[in-house]
Amino acid sequence: MARASLRLAANTPGPFYVDSSCIDCGTCWQWDPDHFAPTGSTSHVHRQPRGEPETRQALLALQACPVAAIGAPADVMRATPADGFPALLTRHPAGDVHYCGWASRKSFGASSYLVVRPAGNVLIDSPRYNGALARRFEALGGLAAIVLSHRDDVADQERWAAHFGCPRWIHAADADAAPGAEHLVQGDGDVTLDADLRLIPTPGHTAGSLVALLGGQILFSGDHLWWSEAEQAVVASRRYCWWDWPSQVASVEKLRDLDVRWLLPGHGDRHTFSAGEWGRQIDRTLARV
Ligand code: SF4
Repeated sequence: MARASLRLAANTPGPFYVDSSCIDCGTCWQWDPDHFAPTGSTSHVHRQPRGEPETRQALLALQACPVAAIGAPADVMRATPADGFPALLTRHPAGDVHYCGWASRKSFGASSYLVVRPAGNVLIDSPRYNGALARRFEALGGLAAIVLSHRDDVADQERWAAHFGCPRWIHAADADAAPGAEHLVQGDGDVTLDADLRLIPTPGHTAGSLVALLGGQILFSGDHLWWSEAEQAVVASRRYCWWDWPSQVASVEKLRDLDVRWLLPGHGDRHTFSAGEWGRQIDRTLARV
């Protein structure tokens, strides 16, 4: 629970605020940039919401915050929607992609995604476990599988798998982060789960990092790659490479010839690409690294 006594000075005056327990995960300003922004080592409210739709957006940022660092008066918080997450990001012939919100401190607030599709819904990485989100998943058809991009973003995967009785996929090199995972990806070869979903090992950030490609166009990239609005570029970060940087660069190159139209990372900004833009952006990324 955020505390008004710990309210950061950077917040603009008004009912919503960020307190000093913020871990600077980026969840709030990626979800609601109209009201939240990074400060440096924390985030803050840069503009107070006005009217019902804006207040709803800010309340969902509050709900998504992994450490409850966002506060608002009790009468405002009572209007928090129970069905805000998962929130639809895009419809695609291979499945409807939703952002799950409910970020977890265990994964430093990493984004997780739900793909709703006739072949069976898939959860990509794990949100914080809670009953409200579980009921929303149930209403959307439950979970048929969980794909874990790497060891850092497994969060509450065990509880989600137990709730829905569904198998989990993770690379063998990161499998100790999800003991009991039913399926282990081995080596560097791609794994085709079905006609629309492919897992591509991309070692580097961790030894067992992988990305998931939906319908040939939507890339769930974990912490291997993300978009930076500030740099207007696809970023692979040496600073946040925990295992082997040359391997990570080779894993970026491996994705060069895909036809990616959506980049959906665990951390960092989400982005859409026009036809042919992905390859040009990856060339820029490779030139930079
Ligand atoms: S979501 Fe919470 S922890 Fe993350 S940046 Fe915003 S206020 Fe800070």
